[in-house]
Amino acid sequence: MQLLDGKTLAKKIEENVSNEAKELKNRTGRVPGLAVILVGHDPASQAYVGMKKKACDRAGFYSVTHEMPEDISQSAIINTIEMMNNNPNIDGILIQLPLPAHIDTTKILEVVSPSKDVDGFHPYNVGRLATGLDGFVPCTPLGVMKLLAEYNIDPKGKNAVIVGASNIVGKPMAALLLNANATVTITHIHTRDLSAHTREADILLVGAGVINLIKEEMVREDAVVIDIGINRAPDGRLVGDVDFDAVAPKTSYITPVPGGVGPMTIAMLLANTLTAAQNHAKEERQ
Ligand code: NAD
Repeated sequence: MQLLDGKTLAKKIEENVSNEAKELKNRTGRVPGLAVILVGHDPASQAYVGMKKKACDRAGFYSVTHEMPEDISQSAIINTIEMMNNNPNIDGILIQLPLPAHIDTTKILEVVSPSKDVDGFHPYNVGRLATGLDGFVPCTPLGVMKLLAEYNIDPKGKNAVIVGASNIVGKPMAALLLNANATVTITHIHTRDLSAHTREADILLVGAGVINLIKEEMVREDAVVIDIGINRAPDGRLVGDVDFDAVAPKTSYITPVPGGVGPMTIAMLLANTLTAAQNHAKEERQ
């Protein structure tokens, strides 16, 4: 069993991003800029936004967070996004999810300019991913693909089984693996006999948000296991969706939580924001 070390790879990617950002600034004067919209006071969302801001600082990016009260109107959020769409200092716009129940998330995500959609959630970028075209790809599944590539794990021809089918994790993960020629199965809360599927996985990717969902008997010998879940255990520790101690000895590779997919997500956000800045710099010169 070998650990897939997302922390070390994320650091390497961040260093490259930071160097490329310096090069862009020297060449064009442009500093990559990220705007984050945070609605309400959810502690997990606040922690994620704080981590993203710190990562921007490390990479030498400009970043701004628009904090809005829980009861803000949909039109006020839309106005702020439109302001950011028109602000030349902003290359990427990130809406921290989940939004409060009275807000139509789909509508909000559609307002973000596709050229600033560094989370890859706009239907334009979702469609490009589904058809195998270039565009912004959601950070978490993109980070998983980079991690697999770093360890020379080629999904081509493999059975890839995904647990969780959300728009931000499971579905884009499936599209990326399909584009990489894996045979892809997506499972979710309504799947009958989950382990019948997971046991067939050469690569098992789990993002359900359920502690210890994946147990030892649900995993094939020598499988690659990617744990995307981030949960707070009753004792306060951060844990994934996989019963790590029991499952790990059976695997060929497995991600730890923390230190696996989480840091890769942040590194991909920086990489996507840099790409947006490079694209905007090119457009300016034309
Ligand atoms: P979500 O609640 O939107 O989706 C969860 C998915 O899992 C759904 O499709 C649901 O049907 C499925 N599911 C839930 N319980 C299940 C069960 N018992 N059996 C089979 N399928 C089940 O969540 P999300 O936003 O996709 O996040 C999923 C997990 O990934 C969470 O733990 C979240 O914290 C984590 N996450 C991690 C990162 C990262 O950077 N590592 C990024 C985003 C989300």
